[in-house]
Amino acid sequence: MTITTLATLAADLDSGKRSSVEITQDYLNRIKHSDHNAFISVNEELALTQAKSADEKRANGDSSPLLGVPVAQKDIFCIDGTQTTCGSKILENFVAPYTATVVGNMQSQGVISMGKTNMDEFAMGSSNETSYFGGVNNPWRSTAKGYENKNLVPGGSSGGSAAAVSALLAPAATGTDTGGSIRQPAAFCNLTGIKPSYGRCSRYGMIAFASSLDQAGPMTHTAEDAALLLNTMVGFDAKDSTSLNVPAEDFTASLNDSLEGLRIGLPKEFFGEGLDSEMATIIETAVKQFESLGATIKEVSLPNSHLALPSYYVIAPAEASSNLSRFDGVRYGFRAEEYSDLDDMYTKTRSEGFGDEVKRRIMIGAYALSSGYYDAYYSQAQKLRRLISNDFTCAFTECDVIMGPTTPSPAFEAGSRSDDPVSMYLNDIYTIPANLAGLPAGSIPAGFTSNGLPTGLHLITPYLQEAKMLNIAHKFQQTTDWHTRVAPTAIGGSQ
Ligand code: GLN
Repeated sequence: MTITTLATLAADLDSGKRSSVEITQDYLNRIKHSDHNAFISVNEELALTQAKSADEKRANGDSSPLLGVPVAQKDIFCIDGTQTTCGSKILENFVAPYTATVVGNMQSQGVISMGKTNMDEFAMGSSNETSYFGGVNNPWRSTAKGYENKNLVPGGSSGGSAAAVSALLAPAATGTDTGGSIRQPAAFCNLTGIKPSYGRCSRYGMIAFASSLDQAGPMTHTAEDAALLLNTMVGFDAKDSTSLNVPAEDFTASLNDSLEGLRIGLPKEFFGEGLDSEMATIIETAVKQFESLGATIKEVSLPNSHLALPSYYVIAPAEASSNLSRFDGVRYGFRAEEYSDLDDMYTKTRSEGFGDEVKRRIMIGAYALSSGYYDAYYSQAQKLRRLISNDFTCAFTECDVIMGPTTPSPAFEAGSRSDDPVSMYLNDIYTIPANLAGLPAGSIPAGFTSNGLPTGLHLITPYLQEAKMLNIAHKFQQTTDWHTRVAPTAIGGSQ
């Protein structure tokens, strides 16, 4: 088995080697044979209708690059007429009445949505274990030494998207990243995952977790695919007040630019205590690879990065507590069956409809925003956020890209951290600063640990420099083959 990229599928469609209906049917069959629990719902009929229409458009001369390519969508995106759960019981029966702008943009360029992927409830988590629809199995589990017959988490919250692509159930998927939810699962499943600059992708129709941090992005095998998919996702949207109105860019245009003279900054804070020593060696080796491509490496400092986690775990829950107040049993989805009056209905609906992690965040957030505590927590966290952002501005005077590990350790065993929220939160220690600063960041396959688990190299570039990041990632992938390794429990198809 080999990976199949979006670029290959697009070339096959273009040359007429395969039709969109054939390709889509092939992936739908693979999904049926998988035991990864990567999908919450699959919409075969809709996917095949879209595929048929893509084949017709191509026959009529439409040459949109990804016309007819099927992907998986994280179940946080509303798609008109389809079940959209956000991994929660409270939305189990919710059928979206409209389509998220990101999905609409993709569909208008002929990208096909095969189904909705599993995720941590309301995108809160780092292991996909908070999903009401059950955990997801990491496709790398079976050969990892010491983990035989055990389930490894795929990371989260976009764990279903990561498992779907890694198990070859979809050639690419969408994810969302509030504190690391694209990059951490990408690292755990050997994928390329990009969180664009805040504001690049519209948040309209993407169920809100923490509005000032949430951002959609692509999860793919290669940087080239990430560039191709990102091209179809971004764009100004008047329906999102934080959407960026910047000129359209082709993210594939500079993939092959030379890296001669590139200045790589390694923050000393990202290589200290808490980082698995084997991971540190893998990341240092990956970074060294760039020297042969003409880059120079220097140490930089992000002195306030230790404040990122405490700041995030005030800001994100505060925004979540406000965003999730709309789920009250009146307007969407689930309503408790028995209640005595209106207040009781709200209470029972929310008590029964939300899982423990979501309740924990709502309580922390409501507390941090309450009068008397607002200044002590929320305003303080916002000040830290500014300090963290300023650190990046300073660091980028000395380097063009910041590199480090995406996560402190590789994928862990299911159940091993679920009773300890703080150890779970520590997964995102390296990814959260980029969300707080609104910067583009990505994770690319960097090599394997001695027990056979993938690791991710984390890249952060200045605001709006996704194209530079993708160029750096692409050049690395042309001289390494980590991203081409196939997960041991991947499902083969007809190609
Ligand atoms: N793991 C982090 C959290 O639980 C980040 C989640 C995300 O990026 N959606 O909040």
